[in-house]
Amino acid sequence: MAHIVVLDEHIANQIAAGEVVERPSSVVKELVENAVDAGARKIDVQVEEGGLQLIRVTDNGSGIEAEDCEKAFYRHATSKLLSGRDLFQIRSLGFRGEALPSIAAVAKVQLVTSSNDSGLGRVIVIEGGSLKQNEETAAPQGTDITIKELFYNTPARLKYMKTIQTELGHISDVMYRQALAHPEIAITLRHNGNTLLQTQGNGDLLQVIASIYGINASRAMVPIAADNLDYKINGFVGRPDLTRSNRSGMSTIVNGRYIRNQGLYQAILRAYHTLLPINRYPLVVLQLEMHPSLVDVNVHPSKLEVRFSKEAELNAFVEESIRRLLQGQVLIPQVVKQT
Ligand code: ADP
Ligand code: MG
Repeated sequence: MAHIVVLDEHIANQIAAGEVVERPSSVVKELVENAVDAGARKIDVQVEEGGLQLIRVTDNGSGIEAEDCEKAFYRHATSKLLSGRDLFQIRSLGFRGEALPSIAAVAKVQLVTSSNDSGLGRVIVIEGGSLKQNEETAAPQGTDITIKELFYNTPARLKYMKTIQTELGHISDVMYRQALAHPEIAITLRHNGNTLLQTQGNGDLLQVIASIYGINASRAMVPIAADNLDYKINGFVGRPDLTRSNRSGMSTIVNGRYIRNQGLYQAILRAYHTLLPINRYPLVVLQLEMHPSLVDVNVHPSKLEVRFSKEAELNAFVEESIRRLLQGQVLIPQVVKQT
């Protein structure tokens, strides 16, 4: 056997990229999450050819300070975790410090950013993990990052990419989720120059639902608001006659992070119980808030899966809150009939 060696940073980043950057939509997700974490009120996403040619994310958030720009591309470099203890109380979407180095390892990246309103900032160019440029440039406050030719140096990965339409579908999903999780941010998605999503950023979740699912669907949604000592629920619940053929219309958001959780999906379905026809699923957007210590987001690199420390209690609360709301809804037509 050969001797054990520590992998150099470039190879380590390419390996990490395999986990973090599965396809163009993963890049979009990571970059938009960074913009959200930077406090942006406006995030514009532009993609070309399903994101394989170009992905550009422009935000008006905090920007990155000149001396931190190169560091942002180092492995495990993050401004979001100050101590190990923070790991158990995560409030930001990112915290692993893996996205930028991973993306830069498998694409051509240009970052233009400024952390102030002097009109000056920094431009960084990195291709396949090697730094090509780092200098001063004119830039408004915020960050503008462009990813070109994703997987240009990893042909094995590139080969697995599906059609432009499929990749674009995944990107749209990512953007819909971010828009539902953050109605307070004005979000746009454009593909080859066509606008596919545009939200106002006025905090109106129902408007966001309308721009994704259509105005008719949004009219069949009922607001939900409930809380107990540990949890707060807000959002909209579809009337039982508004059903879909799959689960993708059930959106669960925890502390501003879109997540997937089978326990929560089951709780929602139990609440509808016999109100839904067989093999039909409701349209639901639930924004859950809880103390960060009640949810572990450090389960998977994509951060889509989480673990709840009081899972049974949370599921029961969600089920009960939705059921109560639906019962109220079902009663209304009967009351009308009687009078
Ligand atoms: P993480 O988000 O886990 O911290 P990333 O690799 O995604 O790791 O980003 C590294 C760092 O770069 C972030 O911690 C942040 O300080 C900075 N950064 C990245 N994108 C932006 C952005 N759009 N606006 C401001 N800072 C950013
Ligand atoms: Mg990040």
